[in-house]
Amino acid sequence: MDGSDSLCSDGEQAEDGSVPGPLILMVGYDARTTRIGDLPVIRVERLAEALSFLDQNEAAVIVVDLDLPDTNGISTLQRLLDRTGLTPVVVLVDDHDLALKALNIGASAYLPRNAAGPGVLGPLVESVMATTRNSADLHRREARLRVAVDGAGDGLWEWNFRTGDVYFSPRCSAILGFSEEEATDAPNRWLDRVHEDDLKFLHARLDAHIEGARGVFECEHRLVNGFGDPHWILARGRAVRDLEGRVTSIAGFLMDTTDRRRQEEQAIHRSLHDELTGLANRGLFIDRVERAMSIPDRDGGAFLSVLFVDLDHFKKVNDLYGHAAGDKVLREVGRRLESVLRPGDTVARLGGDEFGILLVNVIGAELSIHIAERVLQLVSQPIAVGRNEMVVNASIGIATSESGYEDAASIIDDADLAMYRAKSLGRSRYQICNPTMHHKAMSRINLETELRQAVDHHQFEMHYQPIVDLDSGQVAGVEAMVRWQHPEQGILTPSHFIEVAETSGLIVPLGWRVIEDACNQVGSWRRDIPEAENVFLSVNVSPKILMDNGMCDRLQATLAKADLPASAMILEFSEAVILDQGDRAQGRLEELRALGVRLAIDDFGLEHGSISQLDRKLFNMLKLDPTITKRVNGVSSGDRLPSSLIGIAAQLGIEVVAEGVETSEQLEALCGIGCRMAQGFWFATPAVPETVENTIVTPPRWWVNPRGVWKSWQQY
Ligand code: C2E
Ligand code: MG
Ligand code: MG
Repeated sequence: MDGSDSLCSDGEQAEDGSVPGPLILMVGYDARTTRIGDLPVIRVERLAEALSFLDQNEAAVIVVDLDLPDTNGISTLQRLLDRTGLTPVVVLVDDHDLALKALNIGASAYLPRNAAGPGVLGPLVESVMATTRNSADLHRREARLRVAVDGAGDGLWEWNFRTGDVYFSPRCSAILGFSEEEATDAPNRWLDRVHEDDLKFLHARLDAHIEGARGVFECEHRLVNGFGDPHWILARGRAVRDLEGRVTSIAGFLMDTTDRRRQEEQAIHRSLHDELTGLANRGLFIDRVERAMSIPDRDGGAFLSVLFVDLDHFKKVNDLYGHAAGDKVLREVGRRLESVLRPGDTVARLGGDEFGILLVNVIGAELSIHIAERVLQLVSQPIAVGRNEMVVNASIGIATSESGYEDAASIIDDADLAMYRAKSLGRSRYQICNPTMHHKAMSRINLETELRQAVDHHQFEMHYQPIVDLDSGQVAGVEAMVRWQHPEQGILTPSHFIEVAETSGLIVPLGWRVIEDACNQVGSWRRDIPEAENVFLSVNVSPKILMDNGMCDRLQATLAKADLPASAMILEFSEAVILDQGDRAQGRLEELRALGVRLAIDDFGLEHGSISQLDRKLFNMLKLDPTITKRVNGVSSGDRLPSSLIGIAAQLGIEVVAEGVETSEQLEALCGIGCRMAQGFWFATPAVPETVENTIVTPPRWWVNPRGVWKSWQQY
């Protein structure tokens, strides 16, 4: 049968059987109306007719009686739904169970047949249409939004908390750097790529939103995408919660903010840097100086210095060669200044031809002077501009924080003033703003230069101080003390130069020379003078010598050359050295012990802590610092420290030498507490070898210790 024959309508049907516009299809039911709302009603009797009608027409709503001439039951509905998909269907059915089934598989509403008069059916159909329109709109809007958001470059994601899956839109996949085929719905697809430093922050933000502490989830984080490229991503989302407030899902978008970030960073960089040279600008320089001033050192002061560099006669460069040439010179000077920086330092263009250099962690003015000299030398190298080569010079002002500045501006101003002073003194030079500091720094620099020459020309001689055996009154050993024969200042003791020798590294050549001379001297005494047969040599050893490569081999060769047995040599190390140098020094000390030389802790008692060293069987001797010796101060003083130290040492089999003995009372007291060796001005000051040789052969008679009669020494 031709299904179109049985179609009933109000006559709007076209020749091909299609009806223009939306309509309401009644299947197996006569609603006794040709319109519901604005829409025409089309009626067919059988399911077959309905299906063929729907092949060519789209119904806004279908009303179907589940009991039709060609089919009945739930399959009637199923076949309609299969054909139409989203079109709402109202079913007419009397059986309650069947009605529920129909709703379950997708019917929008149902009516018992006897209630389906036009008065009820009309409003019901209209309300079904309205609901459907709303939800269809919603779907369409969502879809449009997805297309729009994806098209605008942001990727959508939806994290289903029930299943744990995440839907990533194609754009989202692209942002995360995986193709759609690779895309999985595991959240790790995203989280695994988040920069490790940002992951904690992302989780914290997510948790805060889930717990309700933040209304939206928002987090800008770095991400290394699937191609290994670093990106900045802004993730934003909002949770959907159930009636109890539990999060069922979070939906949101990912936006690639790399370009924006880069622009922002560039903008920040531009605002803090000089466009021409790329160096820090004045604002950033002041900020850096301020920061450096606010970081106090251990003693509560910050050590920094500011060099204010101004090019000499720069205006001439511009006038003679033009501004492009001037720019080139400024860029080149900036580059050269940068090359003198240490980590943490800053160079800035302060304006025009003025540059600033901030040096951090500088004590004294030596380093600043050294850098200023380097800058003067570097800046004055010719600069090629086109076919010309030009030479510019600079004047530099130096201000250091040791002069006590309150803020960045004042230290920079002082450096500026010092720069003007350098200009007025003839340009192409540096000037320190604080005259005493200038003087101190200069004398230190001169001292280093002089000391270098002194090492080259060996302007040193050795003095020796006897170490007296308190039982026999004989010279047990000698301590070698270096002296500098300064061409103008005469003989200088180590306090004038040891520190500079240490910091400049000159102590290494100097120290070896001392060791070699002293070994030769004592070696020859032991060979030539019977009274010196057992005299030992004690030398002070710098930590730099201790850690010098090949130290043990060189020492062994020196001893062999001087014919001095290793056991006749004592190497003295200060307490601080032993405590500061750590494991490497310990290892070296052990190697020295293995050579057979003896080791002493010098100036014992000044620092606390080295007492534990005594128990390690590394040291054979300790030398009580004069401050400890002084505490003996007469038998009745009651100060227990010296006697305790001597007692501990005796128990550990360690020899003790009391240093700095200056009075007979001290000596008497030392004897009283069991001290066996001593040195000090009371016996002899350090002296030239000839004097010491005489003392070894003929020790003063009053040295002889008839225990307990020290006071009467004058009678000898
Ligand atoms: P030190 O090893 O503790 O040497 C003892 C210092 O005390 C010597 O000073 C000595 O002249 C002085 N002295 C000796 N007896 C007395 C006394 O009764 N009273 C007082 N007040 N002082 C006394 P010097 O020669 O000026 O040496 C000072 C320091 O320089 C030495 O202290 C030592 O640490 C270091 N030194 C000396 N010579 C050398 C050397 O050749 N190499 C190295 N690396 N350091 C050396
Ligand atoms: Mg010493
Ligand atoms: Mg000492």
